Amino acid sequence: MKYLVILGDGMADEPLDELEGKTPLEYAHTPSMDRIAREGSMGMVQTIPDGYEPGSDIANLSVLGYDPQLYYTGRGPLEAMSMGISLGENDIAYRCNLVCIRDGIMEDFSAGHISSGEGARLLASLQGKVKGAEFHPGISYRNLLVVSNGKGSVTVPPHDIVGQPVLPYLPQDGDAPLLLSCMEQSRIEFPDHPVNRERNAAGKVPATEVWPWSGGKKPALPDFSKKFGRSGGMISAVDLLNGIARCAGMEVIRVPGATGYLDTDYQAKARYALLALEHLDFVYVHVEAPDEAGHLGSITEKVRAIEKVDEMIGTIMKEFAGTIAVLPDHPTPVRLKTHTRDPVPFAVLGKGTDDATSFSEKEGRKGRFGLIRATELLPLVFR
Ligand SMILES: [Zn+2]
Repeated sequence: MKYLVILGDGMADEPLDELEGKTPLEYAHTPSMDRIAREGSMGMVQTIPDGYEPGSDIANLSVLGYDPQLYYTGRGPLEAMSMGISLGENDIAYRCNLVCIRDGIMEDFSAGHISSGEGARLLASLQGKVKGAEFHPGISYRNLLVVSNGKGSVTVPPHDIVGQPVLPYLPQDGDAPLLLSCMEQSRIEFPDHPVNRERNAAGKVPATEVWPWSGGKKPALPDFSKKFGRSGGMISAVDLLNGIARCAGMEVIRVPGATGYLDTDYQAKARYALLALEHLDFVYVHVEAPDEAGHLGSITEKVRAIEKVDEMIGTIMKEFAGTIAVLPDHPTPVRLKTHTRDPVPFAVLGKGTDDATSFSEKEGRKGRFGLIRATELLPLVFR
């Protein structure tokens, strides 16, 4: 028996006036997803457990069967994965915000949503200045600090202490001496840095220092094949997903033309999935495009991305006769342009039928599987 999970990132949405009160999933022409729903069964899945941010990291980790309560080691290490940075056994990765602290008060946790280019230039001024600390520029204020032979440290997210004195929230244990040196070094390098001179002159919020938080080691995920008794592969253009898969001992299948964006080669993904299923029991195909359309707030692009995902599934279903499940990881409503934590619909073909007639949020809520937790999905698919 062979198994396939198709995950359309951020596909779930809300009813929209522009689509005659339908959601993008309801409005889009999706004969293949509808067939999975009609000939299979549906349900709803809570992909984001209480207490976690609704992100692709937590959601996909959960859908792959790894309970974040057991395996989530911090935002830093998952972001390292998503940036394609491989962590050694003794490395600790911290999220490293660029922040604005003035008169000892946390003014801005994002340094005025500083640009990625400016952030990279500031971080470059710290590189090599603190032994054992390596800085990796990311997107905007969201950078990364990797500490070799780190111990970890209790830290506070800077967005939780905006407007408050920072002194009581400085790290005190574990890596604290090193983290404090990094912060101090940034207070030396940053004030007169050209980036900040330009920002001050333009009336923008300066980045006065770095604020490392949520550090952790690479998650120790049990081997996928041992956990489920089946060999698994990952098809995704996104570093985060490939990073999780590598940690789980899954085969990472690179697809030429997969971009992680709206222009990705959906048909190539279908072909590579079919090819991989010749030697693997299970393949997880992740498509980022619907999420990107959601972040853009574009209804047209979201509908188009969903239809392309459906065509991809159509190609696969022409040749694939195993169990197939389709779902989003979380909603990315175009109206909000960001993720929400609401449960999402899923459909499974090959595990009995119910009354579902098409793949949608509404039909999922009526499905016979009811509301399940994300970690229950793969056991259900493999049952
Ligand atoms: Zn996502």
